[in-house]
Amino acid sequence: MTNQLSPNLDPRVLAGMLSGKHLIDGALVPAASGKTFDVVSPATREAVAKAAYGEKADVDLAVAAAKKAQSSWSKKSARERGKLIAECGRILAGHVEELGRLIALETGKALRTESRVEASVLADAFTFYGGLGSELKGETIPFNPNMLSMTVVEPIGVVGAIIPWNVPLMLMALKIAPAMVAGNAVVVKSAEEAPLAVLRVCQILNTILPPGVFNILSGMGPECGAPLVAHKDVGKVTFTGSVETGKIVYKAAAEKLIPVTLELGGKSPMIVMGDADLERAVDGAVVGMRFTRQGQSCTAASRIFVHESIHDAFVQKLKAKVDAMKMGDPLDESTDIGTIISTQQFEKVQSYIKIGEAEGAVANRCSQKPSDGKLKDGLYVQPVIFTNVKNESRVAREEIFGPVTCVIKFKEFDEAIAAANDTEYGLAASIWTTNLKWALDATRRIDAGLVQVNQNLVVQPGMSYGGFRASGLGKEASLEAMLEHFTRKKMVMVNLQ
Ligand code: ADP
Repeated sequence: MTNQLSPNLDPRVLAGMLSGKHLIDGALVPAASGKTFDVVSPATREAVAKAAYGEKADVDLAVAAAKKAQSSWSKKSARERGKLIAECGRILAGHVEELGRLIALETGKALRTESRVEASVLADAFTFYGGLGSELKGETIPFNPNMLSMTVVEPIGVVGAIIPWNVPLMLMALKIAPAMVAGNAVVVKSAEEAPLAVLRVCQILNTILPPGVFNILSGMGPECGAPLVAHKDVGKVTFTGSVETGKIVYKAAAEKLIPVTLELGGKSPMIVMGDADLERAVDGAVVGMRFTRQGQSCTAASRIFVHESIHDAFVQKLKAKVDAMKMGDPLDESTDIGTIISTQQFEKVQSYIKIGEAEGAVANRCSQKPSDGKLKDGLYVQPVIFTNVKNESRVAREEIFGPVTCVIKFKEFDEAIAAANDTEYGLAASIWTTNLKWALDATRRIDAGLVQVNQNLVVQPGMSYGGFRASGLGKEASLEAMLEHFTRKKMVMVNLQ
């Protein structure tokens, strides 16, 4: 098992090499139509590559390759598949720098604080799932001594995975690594804004995995994502993206009666009680709000409820911390905060800042946009900490997906819990306090798939990550997620008489 691809640390050269291609059946190929679209680096707004413009014809080719490959892939022993996936993790670990640079170029996320970290999480997810092959086991049922009854855990077949642009490497890994260990073959549809680094991963893994086990297509949602969901040979869809698109995917999957995992949006609350360690809570807000990712995270702590006794001190310290963060070239090691992904998102974020001000909130703008050279055209948005916000206002209810958080004052614990739950979403939450009763009470009463106490950690391999209500269906990142979402159970009964 040797990897013939050596890392290429020049992301522009690498982008050029990957330009205009899907990866189907182990080979880089152009779209069947020959059409492409531009991949634009948001830091300079220059086109750095083309991407293949996938349509139904490309979906048909990729799914056919996956179906063929799955038949022999599923016949390998589960541990053997796991070993190969773990080997993928080892190889990917050697490409962290390269992948980090490429993701920084195409998404505008800073290399040191975000992109390199994401590339290592990708490798780690493969290593984690690679060790779980032998867990694909069933049960026996003691009906009577003359009958052997057991459940067998089987792969589903071909999995269609649709991913977004905010953390494409990590989110793809959490789908494809368990899907493949479980014996499925995969077709990924990348996000139109970030098709390059994930394509590079597919190219690297195809030096190890049999051709067709992992295929990747680029293209637009309705023209490439929708035919993938609708394809008769796709037996499972796993999707991360917006609530609106999630509903479209869910409906399309319902037509075929296939299982779906949906990881959707959030408007995650963070409750800071008056007795909290203020410094830790402020650091937790910076991490939780993902300011280094320009707030482009579904778990972003975008509603921070702060007790009135510490509200002003909290805001002052938070502003000082974010002010000290450097916005700049995503590829520069000194940069903390890069750019928004696209002009469309940039405009959406700007419009929400105006909406917040019109609603009477005070926009505390932090840090400074770079003004030098080509970066002056980049999609930089100064982080905004809104104060004087009401939980009923649009900026506190709707997902902005940008560096905009709302700090909301409260008096009583119960009031904070009620406000935290007053949202259609239920993805993540945190409470900051030294009072054990408040902490445990909050973990019981907050209606979200992940509740943390005195921390705002990101997704960890092993935890079952996934939201309630409008935040989605199903879990990712754990053993249970692999068993529940990428396998099916068959009941076998043998008459021994
Ligand atoms: P965002 O607003 O973050 O771009 P979307 O939910 O629109 O979120 O996109 C997430 C992913 O879903 C992307 O890969 C996108 O191309 C894909 N997508 C968009 N529309 C559809 C659709 N109708 N069917 C399948 N996939 C889609």
